Amino acid sequence: MTATDDLADGVRSGTRSAIARAITLVESRRADHQKQAQQLLAELLPDTGNGTRSVQRIGISGVPGVGKSTFIDQLGSNLIGDGHRVAVLAVDPSSGRTGGSILGDKTRMGRLAISDDAFVRPSPSAGTLGGVAKATRETMLVMEAAGYDVVLVETVGVGQSEYVVAEMVDTFLFLTLARTGDSLQGMKRGILELADVIAVNKADEEHEDGSERAARELSGALRLLRGADDDWQAPVVTCSGLHNVNLDRVWKHVNRHRDWLDAHGGLEAKRREQMVQWTRAMVRDRLLARLTAAGVREAVRAAEQAVRAGEQTPDQAANAILDQLDQARG
Ligand code: GDP
Repeated sequence: MTATDDLADGVRSGTRSAIARAITLVESRRADHQKQAQQLLAELLPDTGNGTRSVQRIGISGVPGVGKSTFIDQLGSNLIGDGHRVAVLAVDPSSGRTGGSILGDKTRMGRLAISDDAFVRPSPSAGTLGGVAKATRETMLVMEAAGYDVVLVETVGVGQSEYVVAEMVDTFLFLTLARTGDSLQGMKRGILELADVIAVNKADEEHEDGSERAARELSGALRLLRGADDDWQAPVVTCSGLHNVNLDRVWKHVNRHRDWLDAHGGLEAKRREQMVQWTRAMVRDRLLARLTAAGVREAVRAAEQAVRAGEQTPDQAANAILDQLDQARG
């Protein structure tokens, strides 16, 4: 048996140290680690949500302070109470750049952090958003093979991170606070288009009326945005993560969305298509990386300068860059 087989067995039996080692491999940028990580993932794939295992992948987004970690800690605890095993991952593109992470501190989820049925993993800091996303997708597969049947992927509205997370989950849940009237206009339109379920959080007793009103307005705005003939209308519900109010309703809508997916082309098909999209994204990322490699970088700069100076057309400049790229490969 190879070391990789051993590690795969350890992951499949849910051994924490094996899971941690597998994630370290997946996150490593060393070529030999990457090779071993890919062998490991290929071995684990049949036991993931892309194989035969029944899992749910949910993205959770919202601005810092909206109550994500409180919500996830409570929802995760409820799900564990129902017999699930819960993995929490994070995609935080700020962590690589600044050395600090908005989502990184796992003590934010006190109950899950100490539960045997939960695994909380801070965001990888693999540099580019593409790198972070790759490590997170691969970690998700490791967690699924280890028997975690609910994977929650947390993110904040930094740059493209929400789009990247939406591309790796079945259902995208957006947490927001009660807003009405003008402040509704300020919400990012894109995020509303991505969201499958919207929860107006912190709807505690004293704010309940305002939250209900905000939920109704948001629901109306969404219908306008998406048009009536769009099949899935994202439900807007109020909840309180802190007081464990309505989290069961939020979860019910997550499941309704899953059923809807099953009835409209299938969850499996969505996941397979996401894998194809992921492949394409990696090809794009790697082609772009080649443009910054030594030798090509200079040609890019020279070509762009020639365009700026009006000496070449953009088409000529693009060809010059691609010729240089071909030569660098040859
Ligand atoms: P995150 O930055 O989105 O992860 O937000 P946190 O979960 O750290 O919560 C930010 C603050 O809001 C903390 O002080 C929480 O105690 C508080 N909070 C979180 N959820 C609720 C809620 O449902 N109701 C109320 N009133 N406060 C909440």
